[in-house]
Amino acid sequence: MVTHFDLGDIAVDVVQKDIKNIHLSVYPPAGKVRISAPLRMDIDTIRVFAITKLDWIKRQQQKLREQARETPREYLDRESHYVWGNRYLLKVIEKDTAPEIELKHNKMFLQIRPATSDGRKQEILEAWYREQLKEAVPLFIAKWEPLMGVKVERFFVQRMKTKWGSCSPHSNSIRLNTDLAKKPPECLEYIVVHEMTHLLEPTHNSRFIIFMDQFIPKWRFYKEELNRLPVRHENWDY
Ligand SMILES: [Zn+2]
Repeated sequence: MVTHFDLGDIAVDVVQKDIKNIHLSVYPPAGKVRISAPLRMDIDTIRVFAITKLDWIKRQQQKLREQARETPREYLDRESHYVWGNRYLLKVIEKDTAPEIELKHNKMFLQIRPATSDGRKQEILEAWYREQLKEAVPLFIAKWEPLMGVKVERFFVQRMKTKWGSCSPHSNSIRLNTDLAKKPPECLEYIVVHEMTHLLEPTHNSRFIIFMDQFIPKWRFYKEELNRLPVRHENWDY
């Protein structure tokens, strides 16, 4: 059974079927809202449920709009780039020497040879982010190995589209998303600990959660933070 109601300017589709719990989803690309509800639940109850979730719905829709707006980086002056959770304004310097990136105050100086393509600029920047992670990650691993009683044999830093990290318990290795260098260091630590916890427990079961609560009591906050903070394009006026 499919019904429909409006909450202000938000249209909600309601699908009632043989399920136990009410469930709300916001779908890309347009942020369409759909509620799945048990058959016998009356529409007023469903409407009240939707109203209590209104803030969440709006946040999800906003997120989807931002993703849709995301444009490729152009590596122009004043474009903002994030390093360890801080925002830097790009300043491109063309110079016929080896490329270099330097942070000074709130600026990121990208020194490149004249006529460097956007693709190459992106590679230079990615490599630089990878280096930042390669410096930071061993410190966290060294801190947590004795506390957790595990050993990380190898770690890799790479572009990952849908995950912040992954773990191969068989080879005692972990993989980390290059974009973590754009987030606050606490978020990186949370992901490193999350992946290391998989050396103790491969799945996200209750045992895993108990470990995480013990190691990083605020891990839910960092998880939220990782999903919330902007990573990519944003114009920054100052
Ligand atoms: Zn995991």
